[in-house]
Formats: sequence, C-alpha cells, structure tokens
Amino acid sequence: MIDTGDLDRPRRGGEVMPRAEVHWFAERMEAELAENDHKRHWSSCTPGWLLKRLEDEVAELRRAVETGAPAARVISEAADVGNFAMMIADHACASSTGDPPMT
Ligand SMILES: [Mg+2]
Repeated sequence: MIDTGDLDRPRRGGEVMPRAEVHWFAERMEAELAENDHKRHWSSCTPGWLLKRLEDEVAELRRAVETGAPAARVISEAADVGNFAMMIADHACASSTGDPPMT
C-alpha cells in the first residue's frame, strides 16, 4: 500500500514534489538506512567501494526476484540498491561542489 501522506501539500517555487511511488520508496530507503545507523557513514567510503556494494545489492535483488521471494524481501533489496545509488550520487555531488557528502 502506498502511503500518500504529505503529498497533498501545494508545490512551492522550485521544490520538487515527488510522486507517490517515489515518496513511498524513499521511506523504504530511509528505513533501511536507519537499520544500519550503527555502521560508518558513506562519506568515509570510496565511490569505488560503494559501486561494488551496489553491484552486490543488485545481485541480492536479482536473487530475490528470480526465486519468488516475499514482497517484503524484494522491496528491502530494492531499497538497498536505491541507497547505494544515492550514496554514489551524494559523493558525485560533493566532488562537483567541493562540499562534503551530506551527513
Ligand atoms: Mg541487501
């Protein structure tokens, strides 16, 4: 079920209002990140290491999909993929702006 909370707020100048599916997936990503808050922040990882982890997570997602894993497992693995892609994007943003990755 897609949580559409907060999505009925009006669009403000320049602010992106994510569609319901993106908002829902971002919440899944945040839940996975929160479970791993005890680990080091991605700002201390290299983009190459993060890319390897992304590839590992894609393999986990592939296995979950291909073996017919429960939806919760597929969603969790998809969120892992999204998070490692986000971390790589955060590094890229930091390197282009000179600012450190967001913490
Ligand atoms: Mg995983």
